[in-house]
This record gives sequence, structure tokens and C-alpha cells, in this order.
Amino acid sequence: MMLSPFFMQTYLWKYGWIEPVRWDSLPFRGVASRSKENPVNADISSLLSEGEPLSSIQDIPKHPDPTLNPRFIAALKRFQEANRLRVTGMLDDATRDAMNAPRCGVPDRKIPEVEKSEEVNPTESGISTSDPQHSDPAQITTTVPSITSASQRIRRELMEKKKSSQPQVGSNLGLGRHVRKKRGEPLKAGNKKGIFSKMTIKWRLLGEGYSVWLNIDQQRSILMRAFRIWSEVVPLNFEEDVTSPAHLIDIKLGFGTGRHLGCSQLFDGMGREFAHAWRLGDIHFDDDEHFVPPNSEQGISLLKVAVHEIGHVLGLSHMNEMTSVMQPNYIPANSRMELDRTDRKAIQRIYGRCSGRFSTVFDWVHRDHSASGNWVFQTYFFRKSWYWMYENRSNRTRYRDPRVLANGWRGIPTSDIDAFVHIWTREEDLTLFFKGSQYWRYDNENDRAYLQDSEGHIYPRLISEGFPGISGPIDTAFYDRKERNVFFFRGQNVTAFSVDNHMVVPGYPKAIIDVFPACVDGDHPLGDLDAVYYSFAHQSIFFFKGINVWRMVGDRGRQDNLPHNSLLPRIPINEQWLDICDVHPSMLTAPRR
Ligand SMILES: [Zn+2]
Ligand SMILES: [Zn+2]
Repeated sequence: MMLSPFFMQTYLWKYGWIEPVRWDSLPFRGVASRSKENPVNADISSLLSEGEPLSSIQDIPKHPDPTLNPRFIAALKRFQEANRLRVTGMLDDATRDAMNAPRCGVPDRKIPEVEKSEEVNPTESGISTSDPQHSDPAQITTTVPSITSASQRIRRELMEKKKSSQPQVGSNLGLGRHVRKKRGEPLKAGNKKGIFSKMTIKWRLLGEGYSVWLNIDQQRSILMRAFRIWSEVVPLNFEEDVTSPAHLIDIKLGFGTGRHLGCSQLFDGMGREFAHAWRLGDIHFDDDEHFVPPNSEQGISLLKVAVHEIGHVLGLSHMNEMTSVMQPNYIPANSRMELDRTDRKAIQRIYGRCSGRFSTVFDWVHRDHSASGNWVFQTYFFRKSWYWMYENRSNRTRYRDPRVLANGWRGIPTSDIDAFVHIWTREEDLTLFFKGSQYWRYDNENDRAYLQDSEGHIYPRLISEGFPGISGPIDTAFYDRKERNVFFFRGQNVTAFSVDNHMVVPGYPKAIIDVFPACVDGDHPLGDLDAVYYSFAHQSIFFFKGINVWRMVGDRGRQDNLPHNSLLPRIPINEQWLDICDVHPSMLTAPRR
């Protein structure tokens, strides 16, 4: 497509390359007043109507040839530099291509959200009276914007047809077409810095804003996946809510074309802009784009776009790292849609890192299911009724974790496992899970708990039967391969059970702090442990309690004259193992391990 210098000028204005745009407060707090104060900061698309020549747009300095305007050239250079183009200050082909690429509608350079919200006046409607579409504030909440063009009418009919053949969600809730927040509405769920200050955030795909490209279930499940991707790296939960009154929904999502969903911004038809979003606000997708499910060869991946736009709602701006989901241009989706390190760091700077206590932690050692049959291990973290697999090599959890315990570990209790023990000697290879006063033996080969093993034992079995002298419940346990003892922890005590002698080691139980003393006085978990775990990756034993972990001094540590079996000072679990995050229960996926 041939792009005119005027188009390029518009592009540079619109996306903030000439002047940063006041975007986040713009659509919600009134366009006109803002644009009078500071006309250059108004998003010019709000002043545009279809087909109008660009030179008629008010507020844009009129220059007969923008390519001669020094501000334009400076802006163009900024754009070229950020996009890793040759910095020529001229409209070369590479620059034209970059400006013609599909992209997000949110400006690249924004004026940061003001921290104070005193200018928000609860009696004002926020709807500009100079905006002919919205001259009557009362009308906004109830009326459907007039649909003029034939193509829009056809689309609408197509949508009606689709809707009538599918169950509708949220469409009978009296939402009307109102999406835009009113000026007087407080920053819902947000604090002064414009970030969500609560942990559970409700979202809804608007019944009046479905896409024509995907069925409704597809749309909802893709959006759910997009929210989940963020939920997996920060302590935020996203809950789809199709029943609460509209004002209780934090993020409303919808598809539309041209003038859409009561929004102050126009979409631009097919190509270029595919969506826009506001901090703490709503997300609109340009349904003139061909949205497709992940892994489609053609079209625009809704998942990829949704992840990006949710990033804006959560408070992120565009980033120019090519691997970041927050870079403004659409790069065709690869199959592994993930947040990179930049994204994770950026969002965690706002919302912090996940932390929380675990039910049990262990390395699962088993023979590889492949032909080689090698011994392999994987690290698992259990919390309540779900679990994560941790990839030690890349220091992160597996993509799309946590998962439901009942689906990944068949035949053991579906929640709150107390302990995992792997007794591993020349003669024995027992993988055991403990809960309450019972334990289960796991069949690694068939990946499920035994009902009865080859020795005729029926499971679950009483702990006191398999381990005379030990009675449940226990807090946790671990197997020490060197001494061939199982250590059972309960309260402030620990009991060693000799696997060879099949009895409690004389002298036990003892106080945990006597057997595993503190390296630094006063820095010790004392008792009521959550998990004790030997890590093959770290070749160390870790004691978990609450959100902290104590590492036991290994053979190497003893050279520093640290007491044998002593515990090094605590560190937060989330500094040792990154991003083990809960997701809202409604989002727990259930694929098999
Ligand atoms: Zn964006
Ligand atoms: Zn919109």
C-alpha cells in the first residue's frame, strides 16, 4: 500500500512520536476538555471521521509538506530508532512498511497516568457535549450507535445470526451498549497509581460485542487463556463473571468495527490497528481483522492480541524488545505464546511476585518413558488441590501450570498431601504419598497409585502399619539416602525411621532444632514444617515453612566449619524458585502430565 506523507504524519501524532499522548485518561474523562487544555495531546483519531482528508483535522499543525517540518523529521527519527530501522529522517520503504504493519491502537509514547485523581468530579458525565454522537449523556447508556454503512449492516446481521444460534453470555443482563466509563466513576479497584489494588479481577466478554470470526466458546476460552498467562506470573486472579451487574466488572472486552461499543476511538477497518485498551479499563478488538485461534496459519491470533491488550489494562506500556508481548506491532504468533523475561519483570515491578505456602515439594524420580529407559527426575510443587512442575534448568514453572492434582496424579488424595517420600535402595524403590494417618504407593510405570502392590499390600495403608512406631498425621517427611532413614516431622519433633532395620532409630523423636540446628542463632523454622525436600538440581535439602525456605548445609558447607546438618539463614521461597503462581480456580486446566 502506498502511504502518503500525511498518513505518516497522522501515524506519528497518533502513536505519540511527536508528542506523548494522554491516552489512559482520555477516553474516560472527556475528550473535548482535554483537547482544549492541550490540543496536541488529544488522540487525533477521535477527531477523525471516515473519509475526511487529514489536512482538515484540527489541532494538527498544517504543513504543506510534513517531510520538511523539523518536528516531523525528529519524530520520524525517534520512530526509526525505536523500530531498529536506519535512522534517516526520511520516508523510505522500510519506514513505510513498519508504519503499515498491523499494530495495537494504544500510543507508543504516553503521558503517564496522573497520580492524583482530584480532578475527577463525581457529578460530571465525562461525555463531551461537543461530541455529536454523544451529546446526551443519558443516551450513552441505552442507545445503540447508528450504523450507517452497508457493510456494517451486513456484519451486524451476520452477528445477529451467529448469536441467535449460540447461547449468549451476558447479553440478557441489561448491559446496553455502554462500555465507556463515565468521568465520575472512581478508578475501580485501582489505587492512585492506576494499578489494580485487589487480587481478584473480574472480566466479561460483552454479549453485544462478540466477534464474527470465532464461536463464542472459542472467544471466551481464548480470552481466559490470555488472562491466565498473566496470572501465571503475578499474584493476580482473573475471574470470568457473566452474572454480576456490569459496574462490578473490572475489565469488559468486546469486538466492534469503526465506531464501536460506545467508544471514543474509531477503528480503522481491515489492516493496521487490531485493538486498543485502557489501564484499569476495557479492551476493544477491531473485528474488521480476521481473528483466529492460536496456531492458525493466517489471520490475527486473538490470544496474542488479547495478552498484549491485557498488559495495557494492567498498566504496561509498549516495549520495543522483539520478544516482548508488549511490543506494539503484530508478529505472527508462534506456538509457544509466552511472556518473556522483560514482560515478567515489568509486570512484577507493578504487582510483585507470587508467594505462598506449599503442601509438599519433591523430585519425582522414575524411568524415562522413552526407549532409553534412563532415570530422570522432575520437580513438583503441590499446593492444596493443584500442582506445578518446575523446570530447574530454565528456573521457571512449566508453561500452563498449575494443573489439577486429581488429573495429574491418579489415585492419591486430590488435595493437601502432607508428604512425598522416595525410598530408594538396592532392594527397594518405593514412591509414597502421605496424608493424614495413611499413605499411598505410587506406580511410576503406570503413573497411578497402586490399589495393591506386588507384595500384596492394599492401599491406602496406615502409616503405623508400614512404619511401626510412626503414626499420622505428619507435617512432612523425607528420605535420607546416605543413612537410609526416613525422617518424619511433626510439630517441633522429628523421628528417624531406619529402612534397613524397619524400626524407629533409638533415641528418637528429637527436637528438630537439635538434629538440624541453626547456622545463625534465631533463624530456624523450629516446627510445623510444610515440606522438607532433597533437590537433585541443587544437591541440597530444603526446609519449607510459610513463604520461606532454609537450605541445609551440604558436604561443601562443612568445610566452612558450619555444624553438620545445620540450616542456613532463611530466604523467601520466591527468590529460589520463581513465579509459582496461583490462578483463579475457574481457570485451572486439566490436561494430563
Ligand atoms: Zn499495545
Ligand atoms: Zn474502542
